[in-house]
Amino acid sequence: MPSQAKLSETWRLLKPYALPRLPLFVVVSVLGAISAFGQTSVLLLLEPLWTLVLFPSASLAEDVEPTVMEGLFSSISDFAVRQGWSGTDPTDKQFAIMTAVTGIFVLLSLMASTAQYFYSRLSGWLGLRMVVDLRLAITRHLMGLSLHYHGKRGLGDLLSRISADVGQTLNMVNILFREVTQNALLCVFYLGVALWAAPLLTLGVLAGLPILALPIGILARRVRRRSTKSMTTLGASVQVLTQMFVGVRTVKAFRAEERELERYRDINEEYLGQSMKVVRASSLAQAWTTLYSHLGLAVLIFAVGWGAIRFGLFDNSGTMMTFFMANAQMYTNMKRLTRSWTNMEASVGASERLISLLDERHDLVEREGAQTLDSLGSGLHFDDVSYNYPESDLPALDRIQLEIQPGETIAFVGPSGSGKSTLLSLVCRFFDPTSGAIRVDGVDLRDLTLDSWTGLYSLVDQAPFLFHTSILENIRYGRPDASMEAVEAAARVAHIHEFIASLPEGYDTDVRDAGERLSGGQRQRITIARAVLQDAPLLLLDEATSALDSESEAALQEALDRLRVDRTVLVVAHRLSTIQGADRIAVLSGGRIVELGDHATLLAQDGTYARLVRMQKLDGPVESVAE
Ligand code: ADP
Ligand code: MG
Repeated sequence: MPSQAKLSETWRLLKPYALPRLPLFVVVSVLGAISAFGQTSVLLLLEPLWTLVLFPSASLAEDVEPTVMEGLFSSISDFAVRQGWSGTDPTDKQFAIMTAVTGIFVLLSLMASTAQYFYSRLSGWLGLRMVVDLRLAITRHLMGLSLHYHGKRGLGDLLSRISADVGQTLNMVNILFREVTQNALLCVFYLGVALWAAPLLTLGVLAGLPILALPIGILARRVRRRSTKSMTTLGASVQVLTQMFVGVRTVKAFRAEERELERYRDINEEYLGQSMKVVRASSLAQAWTTLYSHLGLAVLIFAVGWGAIRFGLFDNSGTMMTFFMANAQMYTNMKRLTRSWTNMEASVGASERLISLLDERHDLVEREGAQTLDSLGSGLHFDDVSYNYPESDLPALDRIQLEIQPGETIAFVGPSGSGKSTLLSLVCRFFDPTSGAIRVDGVDLRDLTLDSWTGLYSLVDQAPFLFHTSILENIRYGRPDASMEAVEAAARVAHIHEFIASLPEGYDTDVRDAGERLSGGQRQRITIARAVLQDAPLLLLDEATSALDSESEAALQEALDRLRVDRTVLVVAHRLSTIQGADRIAVLSGGRIVELGDHATLLAQDGTYARLVRMQKLDGPVESVAE
């Protein structure tokens, strides 16, 4: 059996979805019980059929007390005689009893199968509903986690947890409903029938059960431990797979297909090995139950035979037959129960992995009483801002002190790794400063609601990302209700309208279909159009270097110049030529601002900036020089 700790963990995972549906669970259990009762009680009919209809002389010849069932059916036949439905001959009575038995049999079957249908349907629905909700909740939770978390977490691992592990958990809910509860109910019912038929013998059967249960308990724990490992390996294999396909161009360019496949094969072999350990343990559990139940029947046969032959016990053959049938059925259900139990144990591992995702704390929280803001007010103020990535010793940003006026365009330049992207990430509140504060209109960003702050800026990231949908939808990602005119206007500002209009399907072109046809520069200008359309007062641009050819660069330059009007712009520039018109340029190095001023002033200072400009005139983008 799953240990208390683990089961309670799983319960913790499912509780929010199960509790609100408690009445349905009750209905399901009742339906399951009705169905189980309908199925088992059929056995109770065997005995009167046997002793009153099939072999009446053998059973009733001796002076045996009639059983409850025999009494019941005798009175039914007496009733039929009184009503004139049946003759008084013994055969007529037998016929009446047989008809009654068959009639009740049919009624019970109808009841059992109807209850079974609704039971399966409802429990299936409940399981699916809970899993869909759980999947959504986990995804929502993950979406809420900061970029830190996503940076260090493998995509494949997440995917496999959200799909495979949630699927396994569904499995568990299904097994719990369909098999464990019903099989357990059936076992109890059959046990009841057996108790009724032969109380002492049944107590003997009960006394033997621990011999069955102990090894099963041990094996089930083994199944759980091993399945956790096998699910983890499955996650790793999906991770390898996503890497392989996300990087398919690189893989092909280096003719590394075989190497990648081999890696994938290795990890799948490992998965196979670990899954086989699960399979071995559960096979052993099932084999043990089979052995136990058959040996158990053998012992019973011996005991009953012995009692009958030596001591003349068990004189009602109908009762004994019912007893044996009930036991055989109970053992069959016990076997199923063991199988479901080990399957369920295999799922506990999956829910543990999900719980660990849900336990990941949100590291960006809104303060209580967070404010809203609808403009940049007096501007943006970096107050002694430092930032350390959790894994690294050196600060990525080191005591940044900077005032940015509303309407100003400020460019950040500096060698690769100097902290430019980190600075923008802090402004976006992808994460919060380790010390110091960024204030807007005098208010700490952490005192603003996330919605309010994200509404004030739009970001063009250094790796332009387009969704697999139409160019139109991509542009209006931040304002899904924007009109076509607004979208076109934004595209004109971003200098991409002509290109889009020249495509056969224009704005309806699917980005996936356009795939290779969209150059890096074009992609970036689509993301710029997206930002323009959002029309936020603060624009953050992390300029891509490699993506731009000279033509794109000129286009981008124009787009930028148009964008600056009426906005505050923070631009990370790799091509210094694009930012010569900026109001101020901040030169970053090692996480500190080492120079600050406009293009002419900085050139005149003849410091780092002047050197970078000279290098770039010769060698192209600054990053390739610095690396
Ligand atoms: P830039 O954009 O100027 O090239 P970044 O802001 O990306 O520089 O990086 C600044 C510093 O922080 C670098 O030393 C970089 O190695 C480090 N860094 C960036 N991202 C991470 C991260 N996710 N984890 C740890 N260190 C990081
Ligand atoms: Mg960068």
